[in-house]
Amino acid sequence: MDNRTEQLADGVWRVEVGTMVNAYVLAVDGRGDGDGLAIVDTGTAGGGPRLVRSIRLLGFEPRAVREVLLTHWHRDHSGSAARFARSSAAPRVRAGVRDLPVVQGRQRRPQREAAAGDATVLGRLVGRISVPGAPVPEASALHGGARLDIAGGVLVVPAPGHTPGSLAFHLRDRGVLLAGDAVLTVPRLWRGPRALCSALSEQTTSLRRLAGLEFDVLAPGHGPPLARRARDRLAALAG
Ligand SMILES: [Zn+2]
Repeated sequence: MDNRTEQLADGVWRVEVGTMVNAYVLAVDGRGDGDGLAIVDTGTAGGGPRLVRSIRLLGFEPRAVREVLLTHWHRDHSGSAARFARSSAAPRVRAGVRDLPVVQGRQRRPQREAAAGDATVLGRLVGRISVPGAPVPEASALHGGARLDIAGGVLVVPAPGHTPGSLAFHLRDRGVLLAGDAVLTVPRLWRGPRALCSALSEQTTSLRRLAGLEFDVLAPGHGPPLARRARDRLAALAG
């Protein structure tokens, strides 16, 4: 294992696919790759090779990837989904219902357009990040409340706020919550920049929903996982 990869629980690994950008590798059977792998987020287009390398370093084959689950459409998460979809593994790519048209390349990005011409640091940041990765026309919908037979069971939890279709993935048996960008842990646990949220009015409800789940490790899209009093701290943040 290299220093970009750490194990969070049985069959659950975090891979730092870019600077402060996480993807997660899940063993479908909860241990090895007997039933293949699922990945949660993919990093940017440039992060794909790193993710592939990390999968190999874990002792698995990239062609074992059966599922790509996206927490949301921003390119630092979906950037390599198309690459995986077109690989010989040909995994199924799934995303939240309200983010799906963007992942498929059928919908424009109002958030980015709103930032067009905004030369402030934040405006430029919004313009840069609020673009999707290469489209995945065949991507399909993941509905909130769905239970996936992966790594002991994954509950799909709607978490709109950062984007309308944002999802979190709750691995209850493993005590892990993969929160996407519902929260960041750099430089501390916080809600992230408001300007990057395209469903801000729904954020607090989502955070309360996530804080109501049982988990030990809070694993975000950006920053290190939080393992000390993670639930309490998330509940405090949700207010
Ligand atoms: Zn992100």
